[in-house]
Amino acid sequence: IERTLSIIKPDATRRNLTGQIIARFEEKGLRVVASKRIKLSQAQAEGFYAVHKERSFFGELVEYMMSEPVVVQVLEGENAILANREIMGATNPANADEGTIRKDFAVDVQENSVHGSDAPETAAEEIAYFFSACEIV
Ligand code: ATP
Ligand code: MG
Repeated sequence: IERTLSIIKPDATRRNLTGQIIARFEEKGLRVVASKRIKLSQAQAEGFYAVHKERSFFGELVEYMMSEPVVVQVLEGENAILANREIMGATNPANADEGTIRKDFAVDVQENSVHGSDAPETAAEEIAYFFSACEIV
């Protein structure tokens, strides 16, 4: 059993898609074991995406992530990291497979509705960035 961090991003919370997105995780066997709706501070958004700080889109990405509330969640299940990334689809919705969240809901490569951890090490770091152990049940 594995855990991963999921974020429902501002473009999706703004369009009231939170429930539809969570339903897709649950339908595919992922369980929401922690969840909160928060508005990221600049420091929180910059820290979360620090790995991208040299990229040309970093400033825009941080502004976008702070623009509206997000829902941060821990998803648990068999191969949860890979399963979540399959449910999300490719980063750019133009390249995303049919039936994925990004294909169906994303606006563009930046406003792509969801985040999911990409490996066990980043999942552990990202979960700890938002949740303490006793908040995950
Ligand atoms: P995430 O890390 O959010 O799950 P990802 O792993 O599919 O997405 P990354 O390459 O890690 O994609 O990029 C992180 C985020 O930065 C993307 O989800 C998207 O919001 C934004 N982003 C990525 N590439 C671009 C780009 N070319 N232009 C604008 N924003 C981008
Ligand atoms: Mg990523």
